[in-house]
Amino acid sequence: MDVSLKKVAVIGGGLAGLSAANKIAEAGIDVTLFEAAPQLGGRARAVVWKDQLLDNGQHILLGAYQQSLNLMASVGINESQALLRLPLALNMHPSFSLKAKNLPAPLHLLFGLSSAKGLAWHERFAAIRFFLWLKAKHFKLRHDEPLLDLLNRKKQPPRLIKCLWEPLCLAALNTPITTASAQVYVNVLRDSFNQSKKDSDLLLPKVDLSALLSEPVAENIKKNGGKIVLSSAVNDIKQNANGFELNIVGNKVIEFSHVVIATSPHHVHSITSQLNIASETTFDYQPIYTVYIQYPSHTKLKNPMTGFAQGIAQWAFDRGKLCGQDGLIAVIISAEGSHQTLSQKELADAVIDELKAAFPDLPRPESHKVIAEKRATFACTAGLKRPNQQTKIKSLYLAGDYTEGDYPATIEGAIRSGLSAAHLVLQS
Ligand SMILES: Cc1cc2nc3c(=O)[nH]c(=O)nc-3n(C[C@H](O)[C@H](O)[C@H](O)COP(=O)(O)OP(=O)(O)OC[C@H]3O[C@@H](n4cnc5c(N)ncnc54)[C@H](O)[C@@H]3O)c2cc1C
Repeated sequence: MDVSLKKVAVIGGGLAGLSAANKIAEAGIDVTLFEAAPQLGGRARAVVWKDQLLDNGQHILLGAYQQSLNLMASVGINESQALLRLPLALNMHPSFSLKAKNLPAPLHLLFGLSSAKGLAWHERFAAIRFFLWLKAKHFKLRHDEPLLDLLNRKKQPPRLIKCLWEPLCLAALNTPITTASAQVYVNVLRDSFNQSKKDSDLLLPKVDLSALLSEPVAENIKKNGGKIVLSSAVNDIKQNANGFELNIVGNKVIEFSHVVIATSPHHVHSITSQLNIASETTFDYQPIYTVYIQYPSHTKLKNPMTGFAQGIAQWAFDRGKLCGQDGLIAVIISAEGSHQTLSQKELADAVIDELKAAFPDLPRPESHKVIAEKRATFACTAGLKRPNQQTKIKSLYLAGDYTEGDYPATIEGAIRSGLSAAHLVLQS
């Protein structure tokens, strides 16, 4: 097809849809992105609270997220203004800490593990042995299995699992270690620790998530002639002789030659009820809770990011250190757990008590806000079959963090999926 005849719809303005539309617009193709919500960003967006901008959940990127960094650079985002880049350092309360050494990868990790605080020698060696075993296997497991089964088979001591492997699993896969895909976890270890030291850097946003990615990418789409239509849910898609008819909220019908569906999997189902593209996989979801606690503005934590190996709180971020929101602490609780049975007030009180126990000097908080994302990510379980970006129907594609790829539900996974769908559109 002549490029000038292509007319592409992208459904969904999360990072998958935005990265797809951006690539397509940059290629000079007519593209329109429809987003059901009044704002872009999907599961990575800014939220207004009182007079400040929070995020729907504190996000963290890794140095290995190359496509995310490329996208940011290509739309003119200055990395050092947008992200605080910290060499890998895990400070897990009460007693574990790991700091990467100033050596080439993977020695930076291996020597870091050999001097990790809070582990006995046999635990440090077990961690190193496990990493070297993965390296010898080129990070490719013979078959996928729950991560805990793999760790037990490889004789990883319980305390090492609790302090290191499990917190990394929750942070990266947002899936309990008992069911999480060992292969996807190993993919993340491979990309973060094995090639270049800076791949394991922690990248913490200095600006809100909308300013970090969705707004500048949207500007670039428009600059390249693409259209973005907000508050416009696509209700359903039909095939016709020219391609597809999209029925948009308000009963508007528009024709397109190509369509990229970049919504969550549960929305794909309802939009495509008239098409035979149902995936064989039923996705389960995992929650992420973020508890924002506002302390007096002089309050500071020692580190921008602190982990907790016990209790409800998993990670605490000092937003004063990250983005100038002085005294504001964001506490993350990933994946399912007993905290889901608490009311928001009970949860906030429990987290405030845990912080006070860990940092006795903390003053009384002034206010708090809990954001519960019940379907934060798909459950990245062992053996999960994820759909390819190419559907059974020609010129109809999928994008989204849940589609086929090496990564769990992450910004990088979403952006990679959007790029793959865009390549298919461009090649078709
Ligand atoms: C609380 C939280 C914390 C997280 N932390 C991290 C982290 O630290 N690091 C990390 O890398 N990732 C993190 N993630 C995951 C990351 O945010 C997601 O993987 C990524 O944003 C998913 O993007 P997506 O485009 O695939 O999907 P989505 O963001 O869900 O985008 C889908 C879009 O489609 C729209 N839509 C749905 N139906 C329709 C329709 N009918 N018509 C039009 N539009 C429609 C939706 O409104 C939405 O905007 C976190 C997620 C959450 C929720």
